[in-house]
Amino acid sequence: MKLLLLAPPGAGKGTQGERLAARYGVRHIAAGDLLRAEAQADTPAGREIAAYQARGDLVPDQIVLDALTPAVVEAAAGGGYILDGFPRTLPQASAAAELAARLGVALDVVVYLYAPEDVLTRRLLDRASQAGRADDVADVIRHRHRVFAETTGPLVRYYTERGILVAVDADQPPDSVTADIQERLSELLPFLAC
Ligand code: ADP
Repeated sequence: MKLLLLAPPGAGKGTQGERLAARYGVRHIAAGDLLRAEAQADTPAGREIAAYQARGDLVPDQIVLDALTPAVVEAAAGGGYILDGFPRTLPQASAAAELAARLGVALDVVVYLYAPEDVLTRRLLDRASQAGRADDVADVIRHRHRVFAETTGPLVRYYTERGILVAVDADQPPDSVTADIQERLSELLPFLAC
């Protein structure tokens, strides 16, 4: 299983990514988590990543590719992955497609989770009141949604044109979203026997 979760902040890619990885026995590669881990390092690169994340801006493509490629290559060799938050720009998608071609693997499916922005914002603010993440504050959340619409949104069309995108309504309880994803996957990829 090689699946990409494409979703605006607050849509639940982390939750769904973990569930899908457990279900299919593959690695869950969360770009934001990997980058947050790198940002902990007291190095120039770590400080640069931390600054982009705190502002809600995307980390530059080359830094992301350097951080993510080893994990993707390793997971591909181990049978697959659930990619959560990578690729997130058209240049990252091209680089990931080249890498996949070189490895002789390709994405099976892209799951696009969508929900109204006010629902997403409310979820992120609720999360902030429990386990606060520095970028879960109202103005940074607004900026992250704008960045998603402008920079990541074009990937919806990119993968639709390649015939591998399924869109799932994320404005439902987590279990219903998981059930919908699995139903769509079983239609699209019956050989995976979901
Ligand atoms: P969310 O989707 O809620 O914003 P993530 O943990 O996926 O949460 O991402 C948090 C931050 O990490 C982003 O705002 C961005 O700064 C950085 N990031 C994550 N994935 C990427 C990526 N593929 N390219 C560039 N930056 C990324």
